[in-house]
Amino acid sequence: MIKVVKFGGSSLASAEQFQKVGEIIRSDEERKYVIPSAPGRRFPSDEKVTDMLYACYARAEAGEPFQKELAAIQARYEEIMEGLSLSLNLEKEFETMERLFAEGAGSDYAASRGEYLNGIVMAAYLGYEFLDAAEVIRFNEAGEFEAEETNSLVGERLKTMERAVIPGFYGAYKDGRIKTFSRGGSDITGSIVARAVRADVYENWTDVSGFLIADPHIIEDPKGIESITYRELRELSYMGAGVLHEDAIFPVRREGIPVNIRNTNAPGDNGTWIVESTCQKSKYVITGIAGKKGFCAINIEKDMMNSEVGFGRKVLQVFEENEISFEHVPSGIDTFTVLVDQHDFIHKEQRVVSGIHRAVQPDSIDIEADLALIAVVGRGMKSTRGTAGRIFSALAHSHINVKMIDQGSSELNIIIGVADKDFEAAIKAIYDIFVIVQL
Ligand code: ASP
Repeated sequence: MIKVVKFGGSSLASAEQFQKVGEIIRSDEERKYVIPSAPGRRFPSDEKVTDMLYACYARAEAGEPFQKELAAIQARYEEIMEGLSLSLNLEKEFETMERLFAEGAGSDYAASRGEYLNGIVMAAYLGYEFLDAAEVIRFNEAGEFEAEETNSLVGERLKTMERAVIPGFYGAYKDGRIKTFSRGGSDITGSIVARAVRADVYENWTDVSGFLIADPHIIEDPKGIESITYRELRELSYMGAGVLHEDAIFPVRREGIPVNIRNTNAPGDNGTWIVESTCQKSKYVITGIAGKKGFCAINIEKDMMNSEVGFGRKVLQVFEENEISFEHVPSGIDTFTVLVDQHDFIHKEQRVVSGIHRAVQPDSIDIEADLALIAVVGRGMKSTRGTAGRIFSALAHSHINVKMIDQGSSELNIIIGVADKDFEAAIKAIYDIFVIVQL
């Protein structure tokens, strides 16, 4: 068995955290490939090394002195190395960084050093080989990740390494210039490595015991999710449920490799399993609830629109021309609604309204702002009757007005639109009915 293990920044923020990670890795010899993030926060008001690097480079770029900021970053690593009694010396690395920062190596290069240095420290601490991600993770000239080339490069190199540390978050263009993924991108690196070595499991170690059914800021002590499918996860993360980088499931998904989200601070917890498919029923009818505020509904009315060929296309084209992507388009016989992100829409509002008038001559257009969308996701809904009914009666009991309903044909999720002000109460009502009352 091969396990690829990725550790997030909070798991590697201090020597003490490194020791926990060391114990986790040593307790299972199948944990052969390790992907570290940069050191994260040690305490709530602390700074992440990645943020320190961005700030430090911004000073260098502006021609301001940045040596003090760089020294503070160096101190973070020294504290870790000292706590682990490592005799490693990163002096040379920091000299190179100082020179390249001054020469304008770019903020991607700067940010990537957080993972790069942590990888060196981790490899020394574990006695594993070190493989610089810049040598094997490729981006094309357009800055797009080159999945296939990377897959063979990583696979080739790791064939010759029984145990290795590969820093997360970055790769390089063909010419060697460093390029990072978006923030939180070490999750993607872990997934890439898992695919390339055909791992049996990709373990993603963080500071929570997996996914929760609902946001703990809204629901007190929500229950955890034991297993979730890739598709369910896509639905939930699109709606704002964090923990894993949105793009991280694509590489493992191609090989059907399960992902296990685990907690470095509670390694005995099973965490959440993310799988392609499972016959395991989830404990509840729903797998999770997530949502976002700040949407706008543009309601368009026109008698007989239903029989007008091309009506929807013409309306959506107006949004396209104004570079606004739409979230949902529920429609009725004489109504057509487009839901969009309020933030993107607000400045272009009147342009869109006149565009729609020109395109389809509606009877009226009405805009409703401050809407929230809630996704109730669950593979269990397919085989259970009355899920929608239960949701709506729970919302009605809580005096919440439902503005929109959209059930995807996959029967995997139901999207509900409510007023922003009802968002939290709606999530509570749905959670209660499925998890607490378990109707
Ligand atoms: N260190 C990077 C960040 O803070 C990448 C990561 O942790 O995955 O976003």
